[in-house]
Amino acid sequence: MNPDMQEFFDRVFGDLPRQAPGSRASTLRGYNAIPAMPGSTTALDVGCGTGGQTRTLAKMHDGPVVAIDIIQPFLRRLHALAAKDDLAIHPVCMSMDRMGFVDGSFDLVWSEGAFYSAGFDESASICHGLLKPGGYLAATELVWLTDDRPEAAVRFWETEYPAMRSREAVADRLQQLGFALIDSFVLPDKDWWDEFYAPLSSRLDGLREVFAEDRDAIAFLDSTVGELDVRRQYPESYGYVFYILRGE
Ligand code: SAH
Repeated sequence: MNPDMQEFFDRVFGDLPRQAPGSRASTLRGYNAIPAMPGSTTALDVGCGTGGQTRTLAKMHDGPVVAIDIIQPFLRRLHALAAKDDLAIHPVCMSMDRMGFVDGSFDLVWSEGAFYSAGFDESASICHGLLKPGGYLAATELVWLTDDRPEAAVRFWETEYPAMRSREAVADRLQQLGFALIDSFVLPDKDWWDEFYAPLSSRLDGLREVFAEDRDAIAFLDSTVGELDVRRQYPESYGYVFYILRGE
């Protein structure tokens, strides 16, 4: 991603607690669903953003956490936050579809609100290869939660995320990719708002003024307004599901 775009995304999202729906409670719930973790292992957090979940993970996990993202300013923020709390987090700038790790390197791979960007199935499959046999993957994905889908929500997500499937279809696909499903749960609606949409929404008007002359930026901000509106209206029909999986 070019540096101007990185700076733009940092300006919009960088100082929010998170860059996707999620919360400390949900990260902990996902971590606690993992039956047993061998002592002192290296974990990988894919698409870490500024590391809301990475820091929670690092506090729980007995071993270092490598955290990757493609936006350098996010990684700089994570680096500073991790240093402040003396956490064993190693931020690295790399793309999830071109990670240079040796196969079988990790006992645990984590990813919240990020796999979709390089394709959820492709990313899950790559991470399957990075796991040691019997290692765990915990990842969230945006899914339809009901068969009865409101037209306005369908119209919005058909444009923004055409690959969106049902909760069950994602679980089936993960099993085809060689994972056993240990647990799954829907992130509560407050995970969308408290640390993400609410602080984001309160800055959108200001950003619109700053970027008034930049057509791409305005288009992005318009789409974000639409995303928030759809969520306000139809929180029951779609959501983020946390999938906790074991590689087989
Ligand atoms: N996990 C964080 C951030 C989620 S937002 C949270 O839940 O708060 C999605 C993140 O994925 C962003 O930080 C974005 O920069 C990153 N991302 C997008 N495409 C990527 C890619 N190809 N490789 C690595 N990271 C990517």
